[in-house]
Amino acid sequence: MFKRTLLFLVLFLLILPSCKTTNLYRSDKVKHIYSKKNANDTVKIGIVLNTNSVSVGASREFYVFDAKNKKIRFSKGFTTVSAFNNKIKVGNSILHAPVKIKASNQMISVNNKIYRGHLSIVGSGNKANVINVLPIEYYLRGVLPKEVSASWKKEALKAQAVISRTYTIKNISKHSAQGFDLCSTVHCQVYDGANSEKSSCSEAVDETSGEILTFEGELAQTVFHANCGGHTDDPSYIWNMKETPVYLKGVKCKYHSNSPHTYWEVSVPENFIVNKLSSHKIGKIRSIKVKGTTATGAAKKIEINHSKGILLLNAYAFRLAIDPSKIKSHMFTSIKNLGNNFYFAGKGWGHKVGLCQWGAKDMSENGSDYKQILLHYYPKTKLKYFSNK
Ligand SMILES: [Zn+2]
Ligand SMILES: [Zn+2]
Repeated sequence: MFKRTLLFLVLFLLILPSCKTTNLYRSDKVKHIYSKKNANDTVKIGIVLNTNSVSVGASREFYVFDAKNKKIRFSKGFTTVSAFNNKIKVGNSILHAPVKIKASNQMISVNNKIYRGHLSIVGSGNKANVINVLPIEYYLRGVLPKEVSASWKKEALKAQAVISRTYTIKNISKHSAQGFDLCSTVHCQVYDGANSEKSSCSEAVDETSGEILTFEGELAQTVFHANCGGHTDDPSYIWNMKETPVYLKGVKCKYHSNSPHTYWEVSVPENFIVNKLSSHKIGKIRSIKVKGTTATGAAKKIEINHSKGILLLNAYAFRLAIDPSKIKSHMFTSIKNLGNNFYFAGKGWGHKVGLCQWGAKDMSENGSDYKQILLHYYPKTKLKYFSNK
């Protein structure tokens, strides 16, 4: 009996250390992306949606395969692809969807932009969706230069590569109802194919290949913003998160030495603000005031005193409603009524949650590596490594 108990105890202790990673390894998302079988076929990105027609081609020969095993060979050049009664028309041939188009050099052109991997084209009525199917690491090469400046130090780029990879996998089923994983706009992650690739960013992707940020065995929510204004913030004030993950609570950011976004100011016409808030049916604005601030100095609410009453808005929602490119943050240092205009001044750029990109840049210039950068902005998270090699 004692021997059996001892055996169970030993087995239990052997199994225990692996429990922490069990959730992640079992996650279908990670498993699919880093399995050998799917190595060349891991993410499906909707690059042209609901289109009447697109120009597709390659600088080498390329092949078109339809759902009923019909195969057409094209020598280099371009052809027109459109949808017709749920079928796909390629050149003069009407084919059954989904149609796969693959070039011999794995570089395919869609409306004069080059994409790695291959295309899958589906039709709904007379509209086609063009989906780029490619390995996740190649996809990230096209994403990174859109998220960060390619001239920044390698360690800051590597931190961003881990963030983008983690985000990709965490959101992989965002567009599953439409037959692809992620779209190529700001709704998911901006992706412009191989044309936008920069060697420094591609190296950062390669050097962190397969690395994902996790917390307690789950993929972390790797949100980020341009410039925190001195301290990142708890997301509970701006997003309706019931429980804030401990790694997103907000950290001090002593950096931003050269950032052009640390201080900003703008004058916005009063009638522009009234128009933007038209759903609230406000009258002439008398004053705009900050109502309550977070521990880091960001506004919680904005109070608008107008001729028809008082409107109280979430400060982050106010910024998004007016124009987030004009009002760069909800960390106001001054709001003044100038008559026909309102003057806003503030600190930072973005929502202040998660990694601060300009802080990460300065950390990299001060000698921190990407792991130190990630741990600073997402404390208590862990890097995990996956490989399909
Ligand atoms: Zn999307
Ligand atoms: Zn910062």
